[in-house]
Amino acid sequence: MNIKELDKAYVANTYARFDAVITKGKGSTLYGENGEEYIDFGSGIGTNAFGAADDVWKEAVIEQLNKIQHTSNLYYTEPGAILAEMLCKKTGMKKVFFSNSGAESNECAIKVARKYGTDQNPDKNVIITLENSFHGRTITTLAATGQDKFHHNFTPFTEGFVHVKANDIDALENAITDNVVAIMIETVQGEGGVNVLDKDYLAAIEKITTEKDILLVIDEVQTGNGRCGELYSYMGLGLTPDIVSTAKGLAGGLPMGATMLGSKVENTLSYGDHGSTFGANPVCAAAAISNIKRLDDAFLGEVKEKSAYLIDELKKINGVKSVSGMGLMLGIETEKAAGDIAKEALNKGLLVLTAKTKVRLLPPLNITKDELDRGLKILKEIIEK
Ligand SMILES: *Cc1c(COP(=O)(O)O)cnc(C)c1O
Repeated sequence: MNIKELDKAYVANTYARFDAVITKGKGSTLYGENGEEYIDFGSGIGTNAFGAADDVWKEAVIEQLNKIQHTSNLYYTEPGAILAEMLCKKTGMKKVFFSNSGAESNECAIKVARKYGTDQNPDKNVIITLENSFHGRTITTLAATGQDKFHHNFTPFTEGFVHVKANDIDALENAITDNVVAIMIETVQGEGGVNVLDKDYLAAIEKITTEKDILLVIDEVQTGNGRCGELYSYMGLGLTPDIVSTAKGLAGGLPMGATMLGSKVENTLSYGDHGSTFGANPVCAAAAISNIKRLDDAFLGEVKEKSAYLIDELKKINGVKSVSGMGLMLGIETEKAAGDIAKEALNKGLLVLTAKTKVRLLPPLNITKDELDRGLKILKEIIEK
Protein backbone atom coordinates (compact mmCIF):
# COMPACT_ATOMS: atom_id res chain seq x y z
CA MET A 1 0.00 0.00 0.00
CA ASN A 2 1.18 3.52 -0.66
CA ILE A 3 1.25 6.12 2.10
CA LYS A 4 -2.10 7.69 1.26
CA GLU A 5 -3.86 4.30 1.20
CA LEU A 6 -2.18 3.21 4.41
CA ASP A 7 -3.23 6.42 6.14
CA LYS A 8 -6.81 6.07 4.91
CA ALA A 9 -6.92 2.47 6.09
CA TYR A 10 -5.47 2.91 9.57
CA VAL A 11 -5.55 6.54 10.72
CA ALA A 12 -8.81 7.72 12.30
CA ASN A 13 -11.03 9.60 9.86
CA THR A 14 -10.73 13.04 11.43
CA TYR A 15 -8.78 14.92 8.75
CA ALA A 16 -9.70 15.88 5.19
CA ARG A 17 -6.12 15.95 3.97
CA PHE A 18 -4.74 17.72 0.92
CA ASP A 19 -3.53 15.33 -1.76
CA ALA A 20 0.16 15.50 -0.86
CA VAL A 21 2.65 13.50 1.19
CA ILE A 22 5.24 15.87 2.64
CA THR A 23 8.56 14.19 3.32
CA LYS A 24 11.06 16.94 4.05
CA GLY A 25 11.85 20.60 3.75
CA LYS A 26 14.31 23.41 4.25
CA GLY A 27 13.12 26.80 5.42
CA SER A 28 9.96 27.73 3.56
CA THR A 29 10.39 25.15 0.80
CA LEU A 30 8.92 21.68 1.33
CA TYR A 31 9.17 18.52 -0.74
CA GLY A 32 6.65 15.81 -1.61
CA GLU A 33 7.21 12.07 -1.89
CA ASN A 34 7.90 12.28 -5.64
CA GLY A 35 10.17 15.29 -5.38
CA GLU A 36 7.40 17.89 -5.82
CA GLU A 37 8.50 21.29 -4.53
CA TYR A 38 6.20 23.52 -2.50
CA ILE A 39 6.49 27.07 -1.20
CA ASP A 40 5.13 26.88 2.33
CA PHE A 41 2.62 29.60 3.26
CA GLY A 42 1.20 27.48 6.09
CA SER A 43 4.13 26.41 8.29
CA GLY A 44 2.22 23.44 9.67
CA ILE A 45 -0.60 25.77 10.82
CA GLY A 46 1.73 28.40 12.19
CA THR A 47 3.98 26.06 14.13
CA ASN A 48 7.21 25.94 12.14
CA ALA A 49 8.06 29.51 13.08
CA PHE A 50 11.49 29.29 11.48
CA GLY A 51 10.46 26.92 8.72
CA ALA A 52 11.55 23.33 8.13
CA ALA A 53 14.78 21.87 9.52
CA ASP A 54 16.13 25.31 10.48
CA ASP A 55 19.82 25.03 11.46
CA VAL A 56 19.70 27.13 14.64
CA TRP A 57 16.55 25.41 15.87
CA LYS A 58 17.97 21.97 15.03
CA GLU A 59 21.17 22.66 16.93
CA ALA A 60 19.19 23.57 20.06
CA VAL A 61 17.08 20.42 19.76
CA ILE A 62 20.02 18.10 19.08
CA GLU A 63 22.09 19.57 21.90
CA GLN A 64 19.29 18.80 24.33
CA LEU A 65 18.64 15.37 22.79
CA ASN A 66 22.26 14.49 23.48
CA LYS A 67 21.71 15.28 27.18
CA ILE A 68 18.28 13.86 28.02
CA GLN A 69 14.92 13.83 26.26
CA HIS A 70 12.53 13.77 29.21
CA THR A 71 12.61 13.70 32.98
CA SER A 72 8.97 14.24 34.13
CA ASN A 73 8.02 17.07 36.42
CA LEU A 74 9.12 15.14 39.52
CA TYR A 75 12.54 16.77 39.05
CA TYR A 76 13.91 20.19 38.22
CA THR A 77 15.22 20.73 34.70
CA GLU A 78 17.12 23.63 33.23
CA PRO A 79 15.30 24.28 29.91
CA GLY A 80 11.85 24.68 31.46
CA ALA A 81 13.10 26.97 34.20
CA ILE A 82 15.05 29.17 31.79
CA LEU A 83 12.19 29.33 29.32
CA ALA A 84 9.74 30.34 32.06
CA GLU A 85 12.10 33.11 33.18
CA MET A 86 12.50 34.33 29.58
CA LEU A 87 8.77 34.43 28.97
CA CYS A 88 8.08 36.26 32.24
CA LYS A 89 10.87 38.81 31.76
CA LYS A 90 9.76 39.58 28.22
CA THR A 91 6.03 39.82 28.96
CA GLY A 92 5.80 40.97 32.58
CA MET A 93 3.79 37.87 33.45
CA LYS A 94 4.79 36.17 36.72
CA LYS A 95 4.62 32.41 36.35
CA VAL A 96 4.25 29.82 33.60
CA PHE A 97 2.58 26.42 33.41
CA PHE A 98 3.85 24.27 30.54
CA SER A 99 1.79 21.74 28.60
CA ASN A 100 1.83 20.21 25.11
CA SER A 101 -0.78 21.89 22.96
CA GLY A 102 -3.03 24.87 22.51
CA ALA A 103 -6.08 23.14 23.91
CA GLU A 104 -4.16 22.21 27.04
CA SER A 105 -2.80 25.71 27.46
CA ASN A 106 -6.41 26.92 27.39
CA GLU A 107 -7.56 24.18 29.78
CA CYS A 108 -5.04 25.49 32.26
CA ALA A 109 -6.18 29.08 31.67
CA ILE A 110 -9.78 28.02 32.32
CA LYS A 111 -8.86 26.05 35.46
CA VAL A 112 -6.90 29.01 36.86
CA ALA A 113 -9.75 31.42 36.10
CA ARG A 114 -12.35 29.11 37.68
CA LYS A 115 -10.25 28.61 40.80
CA TYR A 116 -9.62 32.35 41.10
CA GLY A 117 -13.37 33.03 40.87
CA THR A 118 -14.69 30.20 43.01
CA ASP A 119 -12.17 31.00 45.75
CA GLN A 120 -14.25 34.20 46.15
CA ASN A 121 -17.74 32.81 45.49
CA PRO A 122 -18.75 29.33 44.26
CA ASP A 123 -20.92 30.83 41.50
CA LYS A 124 -18.20 33.09 40.12
CA ASN A 125 -17.23 30.62 37.39
CA VAL A 126 -18.70 31.99 34.16
CA ILE A 127 -16.31 32.70 31.30
CA ILE A 128 -17.33 34.91 28.40
CA THR A 129 -15.90 33.98 25.00
CA LEU A 130 -16.65 35.32 21.54
CA GLU A 131 -18.65 34.05 18.61
CA ASN A 132 -16.36 32.60 15.93
CA SER A 133 -13.65 31.95 18.47
CA PHE A 134 -11.64 28.75 18.50
CA HIS A 135 -10.05 27.48 21.70
CA GLY A 136 -9.37 23.79 21.08
CA ARG A 137 -10.77 20.28 20.78
CA THR A 138 -11.09 18.97 24.32
CA ILE A 139 -14.63 18.88 25.70
CA THR A 140 -14.05 22.02 27.76
CA THR A 141 -12.24 24.03 25.11
CA LEU A 142 -14.95 23.04 22.61
CA ALA A 143 -17.49 24.41 25.07
CA ALA A 144 -15.43 27.60 25.20
CA THR A 145 -15.33 27.79 21.40
CA GLY A 146 -18.07 30.11 20.15
CA GLN A 147 -19.05 28.20 17.01
CA ASP A 148 -22.23 26.11 16.97
CA LYS A 149 -20.81 23.62 14.48
CA PHE A 150 -18.50 22.34 17.23
CA HIS A 151 -21.37 21.80 19.66
CA HIS A 152 -23.30 18.99 17.95
CA ASN A 153 -21.79 15.83 19.39
CA PHE A 154 -19.95 14.86 22.53
CA THR A 155 -22.58 16.15 24.98
CA PRO A 156 -22.73 16.95 27.83
CA PHE A 157 -20.30 19.83 27.52
CA THR A 158 -18.66 21.70 30.36
CA GLU A 159 -21.04 24.38 31.63
CA GLY A 160 -20.32 28.00 32.35
CA PHE A 161 -19.40 29.49 28.99
CA VAL A 162 -21.32 32.39 27.48
CA HIS A 163 -20.62 33.35 23.85
CA VAL A 164 -21.13 36.95 22.78
CA LYS A 165 -20.91 38.65 19.40
CA ALA A 166 -17.42 39.96 18.72
CA ASN A 167 -16.87 43.71 18.35
CA ASP A 168 -20.25 44.46 20.00
CA ILE A 169 -19.56 46.36 23.22
CA ASP A 170 -23.24 46.42 24.27
CA ALA A 171 -23.53 42.65 23.93
CA LEU A 172 -20.46 42.25 26.10
CA GLU A 173 -21.70 44.67 28.76
CA ASN A 174 -25.08 42.94 28.83
CA ALA A 175 -23.40 39.60 29.47
CA ILE A 176 -21.51 40.81 32.54
CA THR A 177 -22.90 39.54 35.85
CA ASP A 178 -21.40 39.00 39.30
CA ASN A 179 -20.74 35.41 38.27
CA VAL A 180 -18.44 36.31 35.38
CA VAL A 181 -14.85 35.53 36.29
CA ALA A 182 -13.14 35.98 32.93
CA ILE A 183 -13.36 37.20 29.38
CA MET A 184 -11.36 35.07 26.98
CA ILE A 185 -10.41 36.35 23.53
CA GLU A 186 -8.14 35.90 20.55
CA THR A 187 -6.91 39.33 19.33
CA VAL A 188 -7.16 37.92 15.82
CA GLN A 189 -9.55 35.00 15.44
CA GLY A 190 -7.58 32.45 13.45
CA GLU A 191 -9.80 29.46 12.72
CA GLY A 192 -12.84 31.76 12.88
CA GLY A 193 -11.79 33.60 9.71
CA VAL A 194 -8.72 35.75 10.53
CA ASN A 195 -10.96 38.39 12.10
CA VAL A 196 -9.16 41.25 13.82
CA LEU A 197 -10.91 42.60 16.89
CA ASP A 198 -11.61 46.37 16.76
CA LYS A 199 -9.34 48.67 18.76
CA ASP A 200 -12.23 50.26 20.67
CA TYR A 201 -13.67 46.84 21.44
CA LEU A 202 -10.34 45.76 22.92
CA ALA A 203 -10.20 49.03 24.88
CA ALA A 204 -13.69 48.30 26.25
CA ILE A 205 -12.60 44.80 27.29
CA GLU A 206 -9.51 46.22 28.98
CA LYS A 207 -11.68 48.74 30.86
CA ILE A 208 -14.34 46.24 31.97
CA THR A 209 -11.84 43.63 33.11
CA THR A 210 -9.80 46.21 35.04
CA GLU A 211 -12.77 47.86 36.75
CA LYS A 212 -14.72 44.71 37.67
CA ASP A 213 -12.06 42.27 38.83
CA ILE A 214 -12.79 40.13 35.79
CA LEU A 215 -9.78 38.28 34.42
CA LEU A 216 -8.64 39.00 30.89
CA VAL A 217 -7.55 35.75 29.26
CA ILE A 218 -5.88 36.05 25.87
CA ASP A 219 -5.58 32.96 23.71
CA GLU A 220 -2.32 33.58 21.85
CA VAL A 221 -2.04 30.00 20.62
CA GLN A 222 -1.96 31.16 17.00
CA THR A 223 -1.24 34.91 17.29
CA GLY A 224 1.71 34.53 19.68
CA ASN A 225 5.43 33.93 19.36
CA GLY A 226 6.09 36.60 16.76
CA ARG A 227 3.28 35.62 14.42
CA CYS A 228 1.59 39.03 14.51
CA GLY A 229 4.79 41.10 14.55
CA GLU A 230 5.00 41.31 18.36
CA LEU A 231 6.29 38.63 20.70
CA TYR A 232 2.63 38.26 21.78
CA SER A 233 0.04 40.18 19.80
CA TYR A 234 -1.51 41.84 22.89
CA MET A 235 1.79 43.63 23.54
CA GLY A 236 1.10 45.97 20.64
CA LEU A 237 -2.54 46.55 21.56
CA GLY A 238 -2.51 48.20 24.98
CA LEU A 239 -3.94 45.18 26.80
CA THR A 240 -2.89 43.88 30.22
CA PRO A 241 -3.99 40.26 30.35
CA ASP A 242 -4.11 38.23 33.54
CA ILE A 243 -3.60 34.97 31.69
CA VAL A 244 -2.00 34.33 28.29
CA SER A 245 -2.10 30.91 26.67
CA THR A 246 0.10 29.93 23.76
CA ALA A 247 1.36 26.94 21.79
CA LYS A 248 1.64 26.57 17.98
CA GLY A 249 4.85 28.49 17.11
CA LEU A 250 6.35 28.39 20.60
CA ALA A 251 8.72 25.45 20.06
CA GLY A 252 8.95 25.84 16.29
CA GLY A 253 7.13 22.64 15.36
CA LEU A 254 7.55 20.57 18.50
CA PRO A 255 4.49 20.15 20.71
CA MET A 256 4.51 22.64 23.54
CA GLY A 257 1.91 24.78 25.26
CA ALA A 258 2.40 27.50 27.86
CA THR A 259 -0.02 29.32 30.12
CA MET A 260 1.40 32.55 31.51
CA LEU A 261 -0.05 33.84 34.73
CA GLY A 262 -0.10 37.50 35.77
CA SER A 263 0.22 38.87 39.30
CA LYS A 264 -3.48 38.40 40.18
CA VAL A 265 -3.37 34.67 39.55
CA GLU A 266 0.28 33.73 39.94
CA ASN A 267 -0.46 31.81 43.15
CA THR A 268 -3.98 30.64 42.33
CA LEU A 269 -2.84 27.08 41.62
CA SER A 270 -1.19 25.11 44.38
CA TYR A 271 0.37 21.66 44.67
CA GLY A 272 -1.72 19.01 42.97
CA ASP A 273 -4.10 21.43 41.23
CA HIS A 274 -2.71 20.77 37.79
CA GLY A 275 0.00 18.81 36.01
CA SER A 276 1.26 17.33 32.77
CA THR A 277 3.58 14.36 32.28
CA PHE A 278 5.25 15.81 29.21
CA GLY A 279 4.86 19.46 30.26
CA ALA A 280 8.10 21.47 29.92
CA ASN A 281 9.66 18.57 28.04
CA PRO A 282 13.36 19.53 27.87
CA VAL A 283 13.67 19.07 24.10
CA CYS A 284 10.59 21.19 23.41
CA ALA A 285 11.71 23.77 25.97
CA ALA A 286 15.20 23.96 24.44
CA ALA A 287 13.61 24.55 21.03
CA ALA A 288 11.39 27.26 22.49
CA ILE A 289 14.31 29.01 24.22
CA SER A 290 16.12 29.13 20.88
CA ASN A 291 12.99 30.53 19.15
CA ILE A 292 12.13 33.14 21.77
CA LYS A 293 15.75 34.40 21.77
CA ARG A 294 15.56 35.00 18.04
CA LEU A 295 12.26 36.92 18.23
CA ASP A 296 13.99 40.19 19.11
CA ASP A 297 12.90 43.66 18.00
CA ALA A 298 14.97 43.56 14.81
CA PHE A 299 13.48 40.24 13.75
CA LEU A 300 9.94 41.32 14.68
CA GLY A 301 10.52 44.47 12.62
CA GLU A 302 11.25 42.25 9.62
CA VAL A 303 8.04 40.32 10.24
CA LYS A 304 6.14 43.62 10.16
CA GLU A 305 7.88 44.67 6.93
CA LYS A 306 7.09 41.36 5.24
CA SER A 307 3.52 41.70 6.45
CA ALA A 308 3.14 45.17 4.92
CA TYR A 309 4.69 43.97 1.66
CA LEU A 310 2.46 40.90 1.50
CA ILE A 311 -0.71 42.88 2.23
CA ASP A 312 0.19 45.45 -0.45
CA GLU A 313 0.90 42.82 -3.06
CA LEU A 314 -2.22 40.79 -2.22
CA LYS A 315 -4.43 43.87 -2.51
CA LYS A 316 -3.10 44.45 -6.04
CA ILE A 317 -4.43 41.07 -7.19
CA ASN A 318 -7.65 41.21 -9.22
CA GLY A 319 -10.27 39.13 -7.46
CA VAL A 320 -9.00 39.86 -3.95
CA LYS A 321 -11.87 41.54 -2.10
CA SER A 322 -10.07 42.24 1.18
CA VAL A 323 -7.07 41.26 3.28
CA SER A 324 -7.40 40.92 7.06
CA GLY A 325 -5.04 39.96 9.85
CA MET A 326 -1.85 41.09 11.54
CA GLY A 327 1.79 40.34 10.91
CA LEU A 328 2.21 37.07 9.03
CA MET A 329 -1.27 35.87 9.94
CA LEU A 330 -3.39 36.97 7.01
CA GLY A 331 -6.81 36.16 5.60
CA ILE A 332 -7.74 36.84 2.00
CA GLU A 333 -11.33 37.24 0.94
CA THR A 334 -11.67 36.32 -2.72
CA GLU A 335 -14.37 36.05 -5.36
CA LYS A 336 -13.33 32.43 -5.92
CA ALA A 337 -13.97 29.79 -3.20
CA ALA A 338 -11.06 29.58 -0.75
CA GLY A 339 -11.04 25.77 -0.77
CA ASP A 340 -10.65 25.70 -4.56
CA ILE A 341 -7.80 28.20 -4.41
CA ALA A 342 -6.00 26.10 -1.80
CA LYS A 343 -6.33 22.95 -3.94
CA GLU A 344 -5.14 24.69 -7.09
CA ALA A 345 -2.28 26.27 -5.19
CA LEU A 346 -1.11 22.85 -4.06
CA ASN A 347 -1.10 21.63 -7.65
CA LYS A 348 1.00 24.63 -8.63
CA GLY A 349 3.47 24.21 -5.78
CA LEU A 350 2.14 26.47 -3.03
CA LEU A 351 0.73 25.43 0.34
CA VAL A 352 -1.93 27.72 1.80
CA LEU A 353 -4.59 27.28 4.46
CA THR A 354 -8.20 28.32 4.70
CA ALA A 355 -10.25 29.78 7.55
CA LYS A 356 -14.01 29.84 7.03
CA THR A 357 -14.46 31.58 3.64
CA LYS A 358 -10.94 33.00 3.48
CA VAL A 359 -7.59 31.83 2.21
CA ARG A 360 -5.32 31.95 5.25
CA LEU A 361 -1.58 32.56 5.12
CA LEU A 362 0.76 31.68 8.00
CA PRO A 363 4.19 31.48 6.34
CA PRO A 364 7.31 30.79 8.40
CA LEU A 365 8.40 34.04 10.06
CA ASN A 366 11.82 33.88 8.41
CA ILE A 367 10.49 33.29 4.89
CA THR A 368 12.73 34.91 2.29
CA LYS A 369 11.65 37.67 -0.07
CA ASP A 370 12.25 35.30 -2.99
CA GLU A 371 9.98 32.62 -1.52
CA LEU A 372 7.32 35.23 -0.74
CA ASP A 373 7.43 36.46 -4.33
CA ARG A 374 7.24 32.95 -5.77
CA GLY A 375 4.22 32.17 -3.60
CA LEU A 376 2.57 35.47 -4.47
CA LYS A 377 3.03 34.80 -8.17
CA ILE A 378 1.21 31.47 -7.88
CA LEU A 379 -1.60 33.01 -5.84
CA LYS A 380 -1.99 35.80 -8.39
CA GLU A 381 -2.20 33.33 -11.28
CA ILE A 382 -4.92 31.35 -9.53
CA ILE A 383 -7.00 34.21 -8.18
CA GLU A 384 -6.89 36.22 -11.42
CA LYS A 385 -7.68 33.25 -13.66
C1 LIG B 1 -4.87 25.93 17.14
C2 LIG B 1 -5.55 26.68 18.21
C3 LIG B 1 -5.93 26.07 19.41
C4 LIG B 1 -5.77 24.58 19.65
O1 LIG B 1 -4.44 24.20 19.63
P1 LIG B 1 -4.06 22.62 19.62
O2 LIG B 1 -2.56 22.64 19.72
O3 LIG B 1 -4.56 22.08 18.33
O4 LIG B 1 -4.71 22.02 20.78
C5 LIG B 1 -6.48 26.86 20.40
N1 LIG B 1 -6.66 28.18 20.24
C6 LIG B 1 -6.32 28.81 19.08
C7 LIG B 1 -6.51 30.28 18.96
C8 LIG B 1 -5.76 28.08 18.03
O5 LIG B 1 -5.43 28.70 16.90
